[in-house]
Order: sequence, then C-alpha cells, then structure tokens
Amino acid sequence: MSKIALITGATRGIGKQIAITLAKSGFDVAINYRTENEDLENTKKAIEENGVKCLAVKGDVSNFEDCEAFVKQVIDEYGKIDVLVNNAGITRDTLIMRMKEKDFKDVIDVNLTGTFNVTKNVVPYMMKARSGRIINISSVVGITGNAGQTNYSASKAGIIGFTKSLAKELGSRNVLVNAVAPGFIETDMTAVLKEDIKQNIANQIPLKRMGTPEDVANVIKFLASEESSYITGQVINIDGGMVM
Ligand code: NDP
Repeated sequence: MSKIALITGATRGIGKQIAITLAKSGFDVAINYRTENEDLENTKKAIEENGVKCLAVKGDVSNFEDCEAFVKQVIDEYGKIDVLVNNAGITRDTLIMRMKEKDFKDVIDVNLTGTFNVTKNVVPYMMKARSGRIINISSVVGITGNAGQTNYSASKAGIIGFTKSLAKELGSRNVLVNAVAPGFIETDMTAVLKEDIKQNIANQIPLKRMGTPEDVANVIKFLASEESSYITGQVINIDGGMVM
C-alpha cells in the first residue's frame, strides 16, 4: 500500500517541488491549493507523470473549517495520511512603523494558525495509526529575526515552538514532528527582491548561492523516510551555511 503525503500550498514554489519529490519516491500525494489556476494543473500533471495518484484539495489554511473539510476529503479518498507538510505561507514585509494590524494578523493567520489548523485535523488519524510524520516549514528568520519581517519572523519562530511542543506530545505515539528552516530560496516569494540585493545576499552565504526548491524538498524527503526514524523535535537549517 502506497504512503500518503499531504502538502499545503503546493501549487508553486517549494510546496510544488516537495510534492513532486515525494511523488518520485513513490508517495501518493494530496496537494492543497487556495487559488485555482494553471499552476495547479501543471503541478498535478508533474506529479502524475511519476505514476502515482494526485488529489487536489481546495482550502485556505487560515480557515479552520476549510482545513477540516479538505483533510476529510483526503481521508475519504486515501484512508490515511502518513506525512503532513505544512508549507503554505505568505509575507507582508515592512518596518513596524508602517506595518498595519492586518499585515501582522494575516501573516500569523496563514503561517502559524494555518499550521495549527491543518495539524489539528490530521493528528487524530496519525495517533490512531501510531505512526506519522509532520514537517513544518519555518525559516532562518524565525531563529535570527530580520528587520522588516516582525510579522513573518514571529510566525516562523512560533512554528518552531509548535513543532517542539507537538514532538513531545506525540513521541509516544510514534508521530515524529520536525521543522526545516530554509534560508533564501529562489521562488516567487523572493523574486520580488532586486537583482543587486539578491547578489548581496548570495555573497554573504558560505555556499555563495541562493537555495533551490529541490534543496528543501530533498531534506523533506529524508524527514518523510524510514531513514529519519530517530529524529523528532528538530529544526534543520537549509541555508547554505547562512546561519550557524
Ligand atoms: P510561494 O509564494 O512561491 O508559494 C506559496 C504557496 O503557498 C502558494 O502555493 C500559495 O498559494 C500557498 N498559500 C499561500 N497562502 C495560502 C493559504 N492561506 N492557504 C493555502 N495555500 C496558501 O512561497 P515559497 O514556495 O517560497 O514558500 C513556501 C514556504 O517556505 C512558506 O511557508 C515560506 O514562508 C517558506 N520559506 C520560503 C523561503 C524562501 O526563500 N522562498 C525561505 C524560508 C521559508 P496561492 O497561489 O493561492 O497564493
């Protein structure tokens, strides 16, 4: 019986690559999406090309009822969820003097509350199965902080606390909970940065380049595999050595 992975925010960027990489290693995949567009169709196709199933489930992770409904859809279709990757995330970067309450709230609602909303609905099935992997996408700025990202850094630091607490709650049920903290990864999220700023950032990274979605997806693949069965409650940086 194939293993099942649910990935949130999987139509583009890092989430898309995680879904494709897990499909390549034989997972049947459920991809959560918020916006219906050609990204969704392309992702679905790229997953199915690997001979596995792909179920696309619509829902905004910041809405608890949406999450309840799409998790149920995945269970109805596949009967279980072996791996959950909480990937959906947004930025609303600006200095606190200019930050609106909505900029703060929206980022917390999607990144942190969204992680809770999906996890809360998946955990009962993993506990019952006495098996499961939950992998949360944090960020290096959740560890270091970053000017212009009080909202985003707070959400990503919150994810780290959430991960460690949940790892302690679920360890005895053989549900492993970890986070990854990517550095600068080339996706739409970072495409807004000017070329000279990107170059500047790359120069400060020991490996002298920005990361790729594949760099992140390969670590997720490891954390979803049997090879990582004695790792829980950890935060793994994927940042070319940016933060040590
Ligand atoms: P992108 O902006 O490229 O993609 C984000 C994805 O999340 C999209 O599919 C988007 O869907 C989805 N999404 C956003 N909000 C919601 C929501 N409320 N409900 C469901 N889906 C949603 O981002 P990245 O791929 O770069 O980032 C993925 C994750 O990695 C995020 O958590 C991000 O914070 C984290 N990260 C990224 C880094 C980077 O350098 N890129 C560095 C560190 C962490 P839609 O098309 O509908 O907007």
